[in-house]
Amino acid sequence: MMKCPNCQSKDIGKIGINQFYCWNCFIELSVSKGTIYTHQVEEDGTLSSLDDLFDESTRKLS
Ligand SMILES: [Zn+2]
Repeated sequence: MMKCPNCQSKDIGKIGINQFYCWNCFIELSVSKGTIYTHQVEEDGTLSSLDDLFDESTRKLS
């Protein structure tokens, strides 16, 4: 079961192939090679990476 690395919520919605959205803290998550990548959607619609906020073990899918 996937958990949001940011808020630990399991309230994750699927929005595309390997793309997910956390309904609790409103960040986008994508999964590649067993690692979760985190993105924040800015007001102008661009995505900025939040990955440097989390260490690698937090972002691994178990
Ligand atoms: Zn979250």
